[in-house]
Amino acid sequence: MTIPVIRNYINGEWVTSQSTVVGDVWNPATGEKIARVPYGTKEDVGRAVEAAANAYPEWRKTPPLSRARYLFRLKEAFEEQFEEIARVLTTEQGKAIDESRGEVRRMIENVEHATGVTTMMTGYCLEDIAKGVDCSLQRQPMGVFAAIAPYNFPGMVPWWFLPYAIVTGNTFVLKPSEQVPMTQQKVFEIIDEIGLPEGVVNTVNGSRDVVNAILDHPGIAGVSFVGSTPTARYIYERCGATGKRVQALGGAKNIVAVTPDANIDAAMPSLITSFFGCSGQRCLSGSVLVPVGDVAGELIEKFVQSAKAMKIGSGLDEATSMGPVVSRAHRERVLGYIEKGISEGAEMILDGRNYSNPDFPEGFFLGPTIFDHVTPEMTIAKEEIFGPVVSIVRAKNLDEVIDIINTRGFANAACIYTQNGATVREFKYRVKPAMIGVNIGIAAPMSFFPFGGSGDSMFGDLKGHGREIFQFFTNAKVVIERYF
Ligand code: NAD
Repeated sequence: MTIPVIRNYINGEWVTSQSTVVGDVWNPATGEKIARVPYGTKEDVGRAVEAAANAYPEWRKTPPLSRARYLFRLKEAFEEQFEEIARVLTTEQGKAIDESRGEVRRMIENVEHATGVTTMMTGYCLEDIAKGVDCSLQRQPMGVFAAIAPYNFPGMVPWWFLPYAIVTGNTFVLKPSEQVPMTQQKVFEIIDEIGLPEGVVNTVNGSRDVVNAILDHPGIAGVSFVGSTPTARYIYERCGATGKRVQALGGAKNIVAVTPDANIDAAMPSLITSFFGCSGQRCLSGSVLVPVGDVAGELIEKFVQSAKAMKIGSGLDEATSMGPVVSRAHRERVLGYIEKGISEGAEMILDGRNYSNPDFPEGFFLGPTIFDHVTPEMTIAKEEIFGPVVSIVRAKNLDEVIDIINTRGFANAACIYTQNGATVREFKYRVKPAMIGVNIGIAAPMSFFPFGGSGDSMFGDLKGHGREIFQFFTNAKVVIERYF
């Protein structure tokens, strides 16, 4: 079998990178190499930005409704190839096929929300701000934007930005994650069919050199980034230094609290999905489970039983509830955290270290792992593990829960399971994270609400999608006028 080589899409054409550095793409379930990805160069980025800059003047003049019509076409094309996109996604990322379907659905929802441009991009106006003087605000596109994506959502995350950037009249360059470039390769094959003018969207594959070339390129007006906190901070600082507009979404360590009045049986399926869905590789995954008071005994017993009942296997198997982690190296990293938990004195009550799948002995699998009696100071309670590892930190009351949440840098999401309205009010009023779930384990805003945390989980103010994204991709111009 020949292994495909990922190509760049520049100016409406598939082009081969000139790079001599090439990485491997793996099927995490089988442990097989399934593609090769050139780590693109500054020159590749230069070509993509040039194409995008050349396309910009005409695209900007194209009426917003006409731009939106390309998105209507794209939505139809995505629907037709929905299952195919989901299967490519699972094959390279590992997640269960139903999760990939959910991800593709979210991708399409962003296309749908972006078609509202004729409402969302409008400005406002006030007559007679002084006698005979009128003032108006209009939103204008800014030129070429770029996005840099992480590995855990190879389908959805680029689409938090791309459709909004182009529907508002900008042109675009995408750098997918080098670990999972095949999904966007498939998506760009579909884009290629809908007849967008050349250069409006482009993709350059690669790693750090591509990112740095994007950050330094004077022809790029702004950058959207999603990934780990150290990289997000770096992107934010470097965009500041080069004068670019930037939104940089970082990592997470989400706390899920359960109070004694919670309905534990009803909560259990969503608790399990929160901690183990996508093998814990979500920025919204639960990572620290906090039983409050005397709920601990029943909660932990049921949680461990449910975790044991999960079916681990290839994501392409419809019966699988948890697939592998993305790579051999990441599996080792997660194992390192498990060892750290043991050495720091946490009590392991479910051990997933030795799980191996009889059908796929080379796959990058880990079983669910649960530690009890973790203290907030332990490494496994503080750092982002990004794997199927749960740290249980017991709390006496709501104040302690809020303290655990608010004394860490990460502030992406926080969830609480309770039937008590006053507890909820206190929780959502006081916690620092910006995505809150109440009896919901994954507090994922849909395309028409903003996505992004606070603290070390988000650098910048305008978040992904929602109404705000139309602001991120436009400049507000104020006109004050009078006539003699
Ligand atoms: P990552 O930071 O390693 O990589 C993200 C992107 O940055 C990739 O395209 C990569 O090529 C590039 N990159 C990595 N290191 C770089 C460097 N030193 N210089 C320049 N570019 C660099 O993140 P990842 O491992 O791909 O993704 C997982 C992380 O993303 C987790 O921390 C997760 O929490 C986070 N994430 C956050 C959100 C959110 O909404 N906040 C959503 C999804 C994922």
